Amino acid sequence: MTVTDITPVALEVHGVHKWYGAHRVLDGVDLTVRPGEVTVILGPSGSGKSTLLRVINHLEKPEIGYVSVNDELIGVRRQGDRLKELSERAILTQRSRIGFVFQNFNLFPHLTVLDNVAAAPVATGKLGKAQAQDLARELLGRVGLADRTGAYPRQLSGGQQQRVAIARALALRPGVILFDEPTSALDPELVGEVLAVIKDLATSGTTLVIVTHEIGFAREIADRVVFIDGGRIVEQGPPSEVLDRPRHERTRDFLSKVL
Ligand code: ADP
Ligand code: MG
Repeated sequence: MTVTDITPVALEVHGVHKWYGAHRVLDGVDLTVRPGEVTVILGPSGSGKSTLLRVINHLEKPEIGYVSVNDELIGVRRQGDRLKELSERAILTQRSRIGFVFQNFNLFPHLTVLDNVAAAPVATGKLGKAQAQDLARELLGRVGLADRTGAYPRQLSGGQQQRVAIARALALRPGVILFDEPTSALDPELVGEVLAVIKDLATSGTTLVIVTHEIGFAREIADRVVFIDGGRIVEQGPPSEVLDRPRHERTRDFLSKVL
C-alpha cells in the first residue's frame, strides 16, 4: 500500500513468517482486508490456515512480520524494528477487537447460553452485567436462539452451539470476525443454519475472514478467495477467478478434490 492509498484497512497481515521448531508453517504471508469485506481462505490440510488466524488473533506470535487491526499494530515485531513485546493487558484489549469462532465452538460449559454471550463485555469492563445480558438477548435473537437463553451448551445441538459462539463473537462489537472451519464439526443437516447466520453477517457489512471447505458458500458470499498452500498465498481474487478460472496448478488440484 502507498501513502496515497487512503482506503481504510480493517486488517493487515504483513510479511508474516511462523516456524514451529524447524518447521516453517507460514512463509511470508501478506493480506489486506478492507472494512466490510468477506475473505474466504481455502487450502489443503496443514497449509497454515489455522496458524494464520491464530497469528491474527495473537494466539501465536510470528517470528517475523506483523498484524494490524484498524491501523493499530497488534502482531508485534515489525520487521527491522526493535522487538516490542505488548503487555498482556494490551494483547487482551487488542484481541477484544477481533471475534474468533472455532471449529469446536469452545463455549464455556458451566455457563448458560446467555452468560456465554454476556461474559466478555462484562470481563473487559465494556458493559455492566444487566446491559451485557440485554445485548446478549438481542444477539441471540439475531442468530435465532431467543428461546434458548437459559440452556447450557450440552443441551444444544452443534449447530445451535455454533450460533451461540457467533453471538458471543459479536458481543464485543469486533472490527473483524475470524472463522476457522465453523461448520466442519457439524452433522451435515446442521451446516445450513450456521452458514445462514454467517451469510446474514456478510450481507450486513461485517468484516469476515472465513476458513472453510464449503466452496459453494465461498462462491456465494466471498468478495475475495485466498488460496494458501505450504504457508504461502498461491493466488487470490474474486470467486469468479480463483474458483472458476484458477491460474495455478495447485489451486486446480485442490479444487478438483473438494468440489
Ligand atoms: P491448517 O489449518 O491449514 O490445516 P495448521 O495451521 O493447523 O494448518 O498447521 C500447519 C502446520 O503447522 C501443520 O503441519 C501442523 O502440523 C503444524 N502445527 C500447527 N500447530 C502446531 C504447533 N502448535 N506445534 C507444532 N506444529 C504445529
Ligand atoms: Mg486448520
